[in-house]
Order: sequence, then structure tokens, then C-alpha cells
Amino acid sequence: DLLAKLKDPSLATDKALIGADWVAAAADGKTFDVLDPATGAHVATLPDMGRTETAQAIAVAHKAQKAWARKTGKERAQILRRLYDLLVTNADDLAVILTTEMGKPLAEAKGEVLYGASYVEWFGEEAKRVYGDTIPGHQPDKRIIVVKQPIGVVAAITPWNFPNAMLARKVAPALAAGCAIVSKPAAETPLSALALAILAERAGLPAGLFSVILSTDSASVGLEMCESDKVRKLTFTGSTNVGKILFRQSAGQVMKLGLELGGNAPFIVFEDADLDAAVEGAMVSKYRNNGQTCVCANRLYVQASVYDAFAEKLAAKVRALKVGGGFEPDVSAGPLISEKALAKVEDHIADAVSKGAAIAVGGARDAAKGDLFFQPTILTGVTPEMKLAREETFGPVAPLFRFETEEDVIAMANDTEFGLAAYFYARDISKIFRVAEELEYGMVGINTGLISTEVAPFGGIKQSGQGREGSKYGIEDYIEVKYLCLSV
Ligand code: ADP
Repeated sequence: DLLAKLKDPSLATDKALIGADWVAAAADGKTFDVLDPATGAHVATLPDMGRTETAQAIAVAHKAQKAWARKTGKERAQILRRLYDLLVTNADDLAVILTTEMGKPLAEAKGEVLYGASYVEWFGEEAKRVYGDTIPGHQPDKRIIVVKQPIGVVAAITPWNFPNAMLARKVAPALAAGCAIVSKPAAETPLSALALAILAERAGLPAGLFSVILSTDSASVGLEMCESDKVRKLTFTGSTNVGKILFRQSAGQVMKLGLELGGNAPFIVFEDADLDAAVEGAMVSKYRNNGQTCVCANRLYVQASVYDAFAEKLAAKVRALKVGGGFEPDVSAGPLISEKALAKVEDHIADAVSKGAAIAVGGARDAAKGDLFFQPTILTGVTPEMKLAREETFGPVAPLFRFETEEDVIAMANDTEFGLAAYFYARDISKIFRVAEELEYGMVGINTGLISTEVAPFGGIKQSGQGREGSKYGIEDYIEVKYLCLSV
């Protein structure tokens, strides 16, 4: 039982936050259930809302944003700092909520909470540094001043794989810039979003600036967000498919878009790499969050001369992974999020095996652990014709491709419509720069499998999205540039 596990049970709520009000029931009375993916146990029953509540939240946000925008950066920073402190103080409880609804191991959940909090800290600091510019005039009497202003009301749609951090990454820059935000978390994992809103309220955030809509009808909520003339920016993290729907839908309002979409990350091991380091990097990049991140290594390319050695070292580590419920001690891989997710993993493995790949480790469900558990898997002999090469697997499967030359592997790595993250291991410094510059990706990890941090710009190119989250670039997505031309 979730409440019994929390030091502060009031961090778990079954109400939505619509504008200034915590709302217990949907306009049409519908509800939906949140389940624990590790056990299938019922966690909460929540109001299942739609367009009506979305429009209400947007209307309140639109009013509240004006006063928020007039505050100084420092005033907004102080509230974000308090929110950061509250997130850190309550990190254990937030991790429990997260593991209960999403399944990742508790230690990983706490890591996510602190990672999410780091964005709140960073953007609170940035709130004071939204600098404009002065430009020498084009005529003797002209003075040109550039100011940066909050874009207005922001709508946010977030996925289930990082229930806390994906929302914190949007809420923090929006509030820092002086925007209001209306969010719709994934219906699988709404409780982490609600807990964030509870803490924002406790931090002293004025009412109406941060709404959390609860809904299984994301299409209707998304439509209202896209068609409302009060929303000026839509920020979305999720699948490329849904990103494209939102791109089309928001065209009518010429809305500013921030899209963090799917990836198909290559992870390249060159023969001059430190193999043990490459194995470590592959483990975190591939198996973190059980393979359910958009920056997870999806295709592992290993140079022929070190292929067998790498495969062997990786297999030893993967066999040692402990699968289990997120609350079990020392667990490194939890359940997948849904039956659909397992079916996709099985389909990718079956397709690869039918085309000649071999299962080196795992390859099947782990039914003894529960319905949604899958064994951490390694496939060898993987080739570009297999589905694994083209589609994001989003599960604990490492497909090992063999390559001969630098030219070949770059061509294969770039042969995808995605462009989010890429990784490679090498020691030759000339090669490192060559490869880093050739890879068509928004982020490149070189001799590291972990690239996420609030101080760097996270985001993709090609069909992986647009806009950046984190760093000094991240706040730009929430700001409009205005130029004042003054004749003196
Ligand atoms: P995933 O495969 O990770 O669930 P989705 O893109 O389907 O990826 O989901 C990410 C978020 O987008 C979730 O909050 C989901 O409810 C929402 N979503 C799904 N379909 C739509 C849609 N048509 N319009 C708006 N939001 C949607």
C-alpha cells in the first residue's frame, strides 16, 4: 500500500490540479486506475478528464501568468529554489511514488527525482539571467534594445518513462521565464506529476500557474491545447508519431514547439577503445531504466577485431543483472511498463532470430518475477535488415552489429530518420573529432554512456525533435525576443 510507505502521505493525492483548484471528479464523472507494473496491484483511482477541464486550466493560467511575468527574476528564483529544496527533502517519498507507478528500481527512482530537481535549481538560477541586448543604432538618433519576455501559457505533455524528470524539465524553465504551465502527464504515471504540483504549491508558487490534468483521453486534451488561442507554446516528450500529430495540430495557432521525440541511438565501439570502459558505458546506456529511455543505446556497433571480446565481457555483466520489483534490494532492472511494450521486445527478437541473429543472453520473459518482466538480452550477428536496426526497441535488448571500417559504421549509424543521442568509444584523438562531427545527432557521448545533465542542452535533430532542454539554451524555448527601436 503506497500511503503506508510514505513518510508524508499527503504527497499522494487522487485529485487533479485545475488552475487554482484541486478537483476530485471529472466533469463527466469518469475515472481511471493507476496500477503497479511490478505486481498489477491497484494504486489509485483518479478523475478522467478531457477538453472541458483543459480549457478551464488554460483560462486560469492565462490570467495568472500576467502577474507572474511582472515579478522579478529574483522573486521567481526564490520560489524555484524553495521547490528545489522541497524536492530534495522529499526525495525518498517521491522515489517511492515513482517506483510504485512506474516500476524502476527505487535507487534509480531517487536518482531521477534528484535529476529532475537539478533542473529546478538550474532554471531558478537562470531566471535572473535572461539577458537582453543593446545594438548600435542604424541611424544617428536610433537606439536599439532587445528584451526577452516570457512566451505566455505553455502546454506540456509528458511520458511515463521519467514521470518526475520529464515534467520537471519543462515546469522549471517555464516558471523561471515567467510562463504558466498546463500539463498532462501520462495516464500510467500521474502521481509523480501531482506530487510535484503539491510541492510547488508548498514552495509558494502562486495559484493557477501550474495545472496537472488527469486523462486517458490524451487526444482530446492535446487537441484543446493545440487549438486554444491562449496557449503560445507546446512542449512534448514522447513518440515521434504523436509529436507529428501535435506538430500538425498546432499549425493553426503557429505555436512554438518543443519536441523531444524518439531516438535510435547508435553505440559504436572502435578497436582502439578501452573495452572495459565501453562495456560499462554500454551497460548504463542500454540497461538503465530497463532500456526504456529515448537516449538508450539501441544499436551497438562493434569493430570486427574486438567483437567477440566485447560480446563476452558484456554478456558477463548482463548475466549479473538482478531483475525484480523496484522495492527489492539490489535490483537493477524492474518490469516493463505494459504488455504492449513486452510484445514489441518479443517481436524485435523474433524478427532478428528469423533473419539469422543469435540469442547470447536472455531472450524471453521472466514470468517467475511477474507478467511484465523480461530477461536482459544480448543478440549477436545482428544486421541492418532487422527491425532492431530501424525501430526503437525500448526494452532490455542489446543487438550487436559487426563493422569493418569507420566509413561503414558512420554510414550505418546515420542511416535512420532519428537524430537524438549517439555514443562511441575510441582513443585516437583525430578519429574522435572526425566521428563526433560526422554523427548526425543532437548529443554525442564520447567514451561515456551517460550524457544527461541539467547544465547541457538535451535534444535531437531530424525526426527526434526540436528545441533543447537544460543549459542556457533551454530557457530560450520559453522566451520571445522583442526589439525596441527608440528615436532620441
Ligand atoms: P509512449 O509510447 O511513450 O507512451 P506516446 O507518445 O504515446 O509515447 O505518449 C507520450 C505522451 O503523449 C503521453 O502523455 C500520452 O498520453 C500522450 N499522447 C498520446 N497520444 C496523444 C495524442 N494524440 N495527443 C496528445 N497527446 C498524446
